[in-house]
Amino acid sequence: MAVEVEEEPGSTSACLVSQAACSPGSPTARPSGVANSNLPITRVALPNGQSMPILKTVLTSVCEKNCYYCAFRAGRDFRRHTFRPDEMAQAFLDLYRGGAVKGIFLSSGVAGGAIRTQDRLLDTADILRNKLGFQGYLHLKIMPGVERAQVERAMQLADRVSVNLEAPSTERLARLAPQKVFIEELLRPLRWVEEIRKSQPSQKGWKGRWPSTTTQFVAGGAGENDLELLSTTFYLTRKLRLARVYYSGFRPVTGTPLENQPAINPWRQNRLYQASFLIRDYAFDLEDMPFNGAGELPLDVDPKLAWARAHLSEAPLEINRADLHELLRIPGIGPRGAHAILSARRNNKIHSLSDLKSLGIRTSRAAPFILLDGYQPARQPALF
Ligand code: SF4
Repeated sequence: MAVEVEEEPGSTSACLVSQAACSPGSPTARPSGVANSNLPITRVALPNGQSMPILKTVLTSVCEKNCYYCAFRAGRDFRRHTFRPDEMAQAFLDLYRGGAVKGIFLSSGVAGGAIRTQDRLLDTADILRNKLGFQGYLHLKIMPGVERAQVERAMQLADRVSVNLEAPSTERLARLAPQKVFIEELLRPLRWVEEIRKSQPSQKGWKGRWPSTTTQFVAGGAGENDLELLSTTFYLTRKLRLARVYYSGFRPVTGTPLENQPAINPWRQNRLYQASFLIRDYAFDLEDMPFNGAGELPLDVDPKLAWARAHLSEAPLEINRADLHELLRIPGIGPRGAHAILSARRNNKIHSLSDLKSLGIRTSRAAPFILLDGYQPARQPALF
């Protein structure tokens, strides 16, 4: 069975997945028998609510690019590490067989060009799958500027593939990573993934299905506003069917050109995630987002609550008549809760907040914006 996971966002070393895990000077993988406490192992959430540990690591921390935010940029002075594909595959498999991890998220610095770097990532994946018989979770990073055939090969080996866009547009990327080309090197591979999925629906990838796709932005690194980030997110989610967009809040790294630029407010990162879920799971359009005149989301209230206050405070929705789209607009009601309401309504009217609570609804959030059989529960006096 292929797994759909929710991974933690990476750091501002966007294409190298985890600054904490791969901090300069620390090894990214170790042979078997070595304690795991310093290894870059992270837990990822599974759809069933459980989680599993995966190794987030890089084939090499050498990089010939000069991204302004990145601890691994060319010329920055620290001890770097490189693994051969067979070394990495075996080191990971030892960890896997020892029970330390259940999967791997494999990336790399760009060394010897994108195509050679991608070939080494593919070689590692190929050894894992076809020589060592690894059947668990594999997330493969796609390097900027690879060939279409390499993308297709990655899709045949991995459960998930990703390309980090870093910024929402060509102009913004130039302020973060001037050696990367937004459309040709970063966006095009994501388009190829979707083209391949659509054009070859029956010839599927690993374990009979094509991998999911994700990307990551260095949020707040290029002076972009939330509207810019979410406009690109909207395109990626609706047109290219990305499973997840990650926002890695910018944090300055010593010894980089952006070392004096302030870190972003962590609330901004949270609001971006909430807005991206509204786009992906709640059918919200960009026009529904409560941007201010500067194209920013409010920090003090989540975007769904802000929308409800503006649109439902004076026109609450009748829970017994609202359709799926309307139910998803109500704070405290998610996709699962909305379907539970629709299902329960087929048998009986929903009369009370306790009825709703029994369906998994967060009634304290929903109450100000709903009617229950004609009554607004938030305004009902207590019976006793
Ligand atoms: S390509 Fe850029 S972000 Fe990726 S490791 Fe190299 S310098 Fe860092």
